[in-house]
Amino acid sequence: MNLQPVIGLETHVQLKTKTKMFCGCSAHSENVAPNTNVCPVCMGHPGTLPLPNEQAIRWAVLLGLALNGQITPHSKFDRKNYFYPDLPKAYQISQFDLPIMTEGEVELDDIPGEEPRIIRLERMHLEEDAAKNIHGEDGKTYVDYNRGGTPLCEIVTAPVFETAAQAKAYVHELRLLVRTLGISDGDLERGHMRCDVNISLREVDENGVPLSPMLSPKTEIKNINSFRHIERAIAYEVKRQTELWEAGTPPDKTFTRGWNDAKQVTEEQRAKEDSADYRYFPEPDVPPLELASIAKEIKPRMPELPAAKRARLKNEYGFKAEDIRMIVEDPALVDFTEKAMSELGAWLQAKPDVSPDQMPEARAKLTKTFSGWLLSKLMGLLEERKIDIRTMKLSPENFAEFVSLIADNKLTGPKGLEVLAKMLDSGADPSHVMEELGANRMDDMTALEAIVKTVIEENPKEADRYKAGETKLMQFLVGQVMKISKGNADPSKTAQAIKNILG
Ligand code: ZN
Ligand code: MN
Repeated sequence: MNLQPVIGLETHVQLKTKTKMFCGCSAHSENVAPNTNVCPVCMGHPGTLPLPNEQAIRWAVLLGLALNGQITPHSKFDRKNYFYPDLPKAYQISQFDLPIMTEGEVELDDIPGEEPRIIRLERMHLEEDAAKNIHGEDGKTYVDYNRGGTPLCEIVTAPVFETAAQAKAYVHELRLLVRTLGISDGDLERGHMRCDVNISLREVDENGVPLSPMLSPKTEIKNINSFRHIERAIAYEVKRQTELWEAGTPPDKTFTRGWNDAKQVTEEQRAKEDSADYRYFPEPDVPPLELASIAKEIKPRMPELPAAKRARLKNEYGFKAEDIRMIVEDPALVDFTEKAMSELGAWLQAKPDVSPDQMPEARAKLTKTFSGWLLSKLMGLLEERKIDIRTMKLSPENFAEFVSLIADNKLTGPKGLEVLAKMLDSGADPSHVMEELGANRMDDMTALEAIVKTVIEENPKEADRYKAGETKLMQFLVGQVMKISKGNADPSKTAQAIKNILG
């Protein structure tokens, strides 16, 4: 039997508005005592009225446009009725038949080991979050209403994923998108993004063509909040359902399950409600939403989206795919890269010793030098110091000048790292720091040979062993020259000088 997974995702993204969706309570309750960000509106007291958050609506439209979807011109809110302690009104204000957006898409051009593909989106709607149930060690369940009423955008894909890698790549891209738009922090671990994974299997022939156009009843795995859990829950569920199919008893009903990370299994929670069970009806206390004019106003102000950024970093500067992946992850890093690269471009252009036909090769080499120093060296220094790129003292202009000195061979690698660290700590420009550190790359053979002679005098045994064929001592000898030259000796020229003298 050939079985193929059919996976769809529903992702809730928490918008980072100052206040909640329908009241003036703060929407930020991290490190806040339970049940303090609450008021009669979000606690569902009788006689209160919801007042929609304009910022949340504008951001939802912005997201809809960024997802390349159709913005519903006349939209509205609806009540979704269910009775549960996390919902004090006994209904959630959500959207039923006229969501903010329909028919969107996300292009995934960076799935590890797979071809690019377009993920079709069915819809995106705006709603308020439920409160949070906390299961105490005393066996009781407590409810924290701080989260209740926080604005959420729910994005629903068509059942188009076949692998966990595709699902992960999609959530990754969605996170990047909401961060780029500045509408959510998108931290899965902190609950800013939560995924429901819908999954069923279908029988396909040996060419992967489905035997029936009908989809089997799906299982919905609720509230997954990490990339690792998405992957493991999908793997577990594919295995579980495969066994049911092979035993001749494929799932015949839609079920809701939860991911239990401690046990590494999904667990049955309940048979899934139909939308009819929720008795949706239009929310009478909130006027309809006229979105066409908002969309028209917002569209021209759309920032550059991640896919376009990736294309530009590739075409304009020639960065490698894996470097682009790292840079695009953080909008501040993209900004820094572009500022520094534009400085470097101007510097290269003005160099008298590079002819126009040598320019493409010189540019490619410079990009490589730049990404090496940015992504491994600078990022490493930032991590050591626990500094954020947004708050660091190093300016893109100074970093560009630093890279130009490396490219011009005015600084050795080891000395360069020292200079860069100092620039990071003081905010000074590289020529200043080089002067202060006495940094000046030595590549003059006569001068290097003089230092090599001193090293041999001080370490006669090692020099003899090297001469007798112990070539691994080269590293030791180079190290000694480095020490005397305070890191300024060019490593490959030093090795040459040692060979010149010891043979
Ligand atoms: Zn409130
Ligand atoms: Mn929802």
